Amino acid sequence: MSIFDYAPAPESRDIARLKPSYQIFVDGAFRDGSGEAIKTINPADETPLAEVTEAGPADVEDAIAAARRAFDGPWGSMPGRERGKYLFRIARAIQERGRELAVLESLDNGKPIRESRDVDIPLAAAHFFYHAGWADKLGYAGFGPSPKPIGVVGQIIPWNFPLLMAAWKIAPALACGNTVVLKPAETTPLTALVLAEIIAEADLPPGVVNVLASNKSIGQALVEHDGVDKIAFTGSTEVGKFIQRTVAGTGKHVSLELGGKAANIVFDDAPLDQAVEGIVNGIFFNQGQVCCAGSRLLVQESIADELIASLQRRLATLRVGDPLDKNTDVGAINSAAQLTKIRELTAAGEDEGATRWSPPCELPERGFWFAPTIFTGVSQAHRIAREEIFGPVLAVLTFRTPAEAIEKANNTAYGLSAGVWTEKGSRILSMASKLRAGVVWANTFNRFDPTSPFGGYKESGFGREGGRHGLGAYLDV
Ligand code: NDP
Repeated sequence: MSIFDYAPAPESRDIARLKPSYQIFVDGAFRDGSGEAIKTINPADETPLAEVTEAGPADVEDAIAAARRAFDGPWGSMPGRERGKYLFRIARAIQERGRELAVLESLDNGKPIRESRDVDIPLAAAHFFYHAGWADKLGYAGFGPSPKPIGVVGQIIPWNFPLLMAAWKIAPALACGNTVVLKPAETTPLTALVLAEIIAEADLPPGVVNVLASNKSIGQALVEHDGVDKIAFTGSTEVGKFIQRTVAGTGKHVSLELGGKAANIVFDDAPLDQAVEGIVNGIFFNQGQVCCAGSRLLVQESIADELIASLQRRLATLRVGDPLDKNTDVGAINSAAQLTKIRELTAAGEDEGATRWSPPCELPERGFWFAPTIFTGVSQAHRIAREEIFGPVLAVLTFRTPAEAIEKANNTAYGLSAGVWTEKGSRILSMASKLRAGVVWANTFNRFDPTSPFGGYKESGFGREGGRHGLGAYLDV
């Protein structure tokens, strides 16, 4: 059979309207941060994209004071139906600038344009639309007739879904009447700063949202500051534990969305071709840099050989390369540090005796790249079966009975998500009730919707984001 080559189909980077430099957003105005000026780079080729002046300690004070003034003033006294109008306006502006945001996100993060265009940006708009609808209906959300906001919320987000995580955090906080100081990750500040532009254009009262592009010291300052009433964090379990320790006894509210090591469980009656697509989407979406990634494949022993052969054939067709090319399936790893971590853990996988396989694929010479990789012959004790790799690496384990699948799936410090592939509805329900995971997907994986609560158990954190449950994280209940 002849195989057709794909002609290049790159999006133009001009669409991103990159500026030479970006400023922080405090009290309704853009200004140079009092921290260092850094260059944010394109992880696909390591070229600088723009300069960003980072926030310093004085900016933290100003941002928290501005957020407090807005909370005690115009925003705190505004009726929900008025707040909702601002959220609708932000949602529409995200849609209008969707292409620009998608290209900018792919440049700054390294993710394929197909994903930023079809997943990140539409979902970011959807979160604002969804929460706009709640703003005037909080009294019917099950938290009492007139639930109150918490106050000033410090929000710290990671680099894997920069705009989407900003939307997950800001939209419910504002819908519930809080004000926000947001700290994006240092390697991916750009779309959060464009969101600040959108917020300024939507004419929100000054101080309702402040965006402090910065390094981790500013995240730490937010966590430690007495003027912050709640910390909402998405990121590593290690930093989540630091936050939990720091706020213990202070009365500060906290929600933590941390790491994961999800089991994607395939039974012998599953539709195998669909399962293969689900496995690929589960672990190679966003280069596996996803907290809920299906990084452990648990396959029933009787179909393991057939499924792995089919998976290998599918992986050989994945196109790895230019994130701006619309044909690309797997883009760049976000940073040199993350690439080092993936390399270290995959080397440990080989050292501990698992069998490594990647399809033949040519990686670009510059930038941070890692080929899609699967490990077979993995045992539960291996580091690659226990630790979050946060990269395009799948550990394959087998099981014989449903009970063994449950036992292995739950044998992890994490508890964020899981997947079940079977044609039996009763088995799906029975597995879902026994899996210790905040989200269980059935015959699909990595599907997100603002109406559906998302969050974990155990070392994956606590608190829910999205849906009615997610409102509870931003109300004083
Ligand atoms: P971090 O948890 O360090 O970063 C997440 C956010 O927290 C960033 O904005 C970061 O700022 C900030 N931060 C870092 N340290 C502190 C601190 N002491 N106090 C307050 N805020 C802080 O994740 P990394 O980027 O270091 O990634 C490490 C590993 O974490 C990954 O390999 C992956 O396994 C996991 N991870 C999980 C994510 C998830 O969605 N569950 C997301 C990202 C990572 P800055 O960027 O300036 O350092």
